[in-house]
Amino acid sequence: MHKDSPQTTHATPLFLPRARLQDLIDALHGAGYRCVGPTPKDGAIVFDTLHSAAQLPAGLQDEQEPGRYRLHAGGGVRQFAWANGPQALKPLLFAPREVLWRATRRPDGSLAFDEALPREKPLAVFGVRSCDLAALAILDRHFLQQAHGAYVDPYYAQRREGLFLVAVNCSHPAATCFCASTGDGPRAGGGFDLALDELDDGFVLECGSERARTIVGAIRLAPAARGQTDAAQQQSRQAQQRMTRSLPGRNLRDALFANLEHARWNDVADRCLSCGNCTSVCPTCFCHGERDWQQIDGAQSEHVREWDSCFTKGHSYIHGLTVRPDTRTRYRQWLTHKLGSWHDQFGRSGCVGCGRCIAWCPVGIDITEEAAAICGGKP
Ligand code: SF4
Ligand code: SF4
Repeated sequence: MHKDSPQTTHATPLFLPRARLQDLIDALHGAGYRCVGPTPKDGAIVFDTLHSAAQLPAGLQDEQEPGRYRLHAGGGVRQFAWANGPQALKPLLFAPREVLWRATRRPDGSLAFDEALPREKPLAVFGVRSCDLAALAILDRHFLQQAHGAYVDPYYAQRREGLFLVAVNCSHPAATCFCASTGDGPRAGGGFDLALDELDDGFVLECGSERARTIVGAIRLAPAARGQTDAAQQQSRQAQQRMTRSLPGRNLRDALFANLEHARWNDVADRCLSCGNCTSVCPTCFCHGERDWQQIDGAQSEHVREWDSCFTKGHSYIHGLTVRPDTRTRYRQWLTHKLGSWHDQFGRSGCVGCGRCIAWCPVGIDITEEAAAICGGKP
């Protein structure tokens, strides 16, 4: 990880007036970052290159329910009065599709192999949520600190090295959010460079790293007033109280493995389309496949890594046998790994309570409901 990787900080919070948000974007540009932030596009809030604060989704709010995501006006002057869009940080670090290496045939017939490492500017991401930071910590463990051996994924590591994170504490959780029940929100506890609490007239700002202090020092901000920091804390408490969904426990490993033949697996299989939307939007799912693409003249071949999903037939294909041939076993694999054996691998559940898999499932399957039906307890 970067030598100046973010830590939790207890420094005095500052206040960034809304009209000066552009100063922060400009300061990051000046320090050599490409800025990315939430922007409305095709009816959803997605990350895009951020040149101006005017691109942020001012006044927009989201309405999320199982199988439903809609944007509407109602957020007043606020630019972050919504919960989350279909993306987290995952696609910015672990590309949905990327070339890992190329093989080229030389004139003498021998082959040259070239690693295709990403050569991108360091990235500053605005609008990172606390659940996204929790998911990032899991991805870091997977890609940078493999338990068996010292393999570090160089493609992920290269992008992670330059990442500057501007978190925004959630003030408007969606009906699908349950990060309070997983212990991952709605306030960011650490792992950010800057954390903002949005109020009507601006942002209470907390620095979490030395590089953030350098950036913020250049734009000269006054300390936040006591009333502003109190309002920010109160807003977080209210956000937490508004969450109605929860998982029936933080560690469902034993309950899930004791119920591998539960009738609910058949019930959910009757509804599930095996489309894999849930794994695409999940900020912690990291399964992928690799394949080679050859040019028809045999001059060059590209070795490509693409996201895969435990819902595809090919994902469990081994030597002429598909281990999980039906939706029942694929959904069971997803849930028992995500909420069960993930504890053995990572010491925690693979769910950070973002609710994306609920909203973006085309048939509205709700992980909290399924877990409660199988493990007991209320969703
Ligand atoms: S399993 Fe669903 S709610 Fe949990 S982190 Fe993944 S997308 Fe979010
Ligand atoms: S649970 Fe929903 S999103 Fe996931 S594979 Fe099944 S139908 Fe698709």
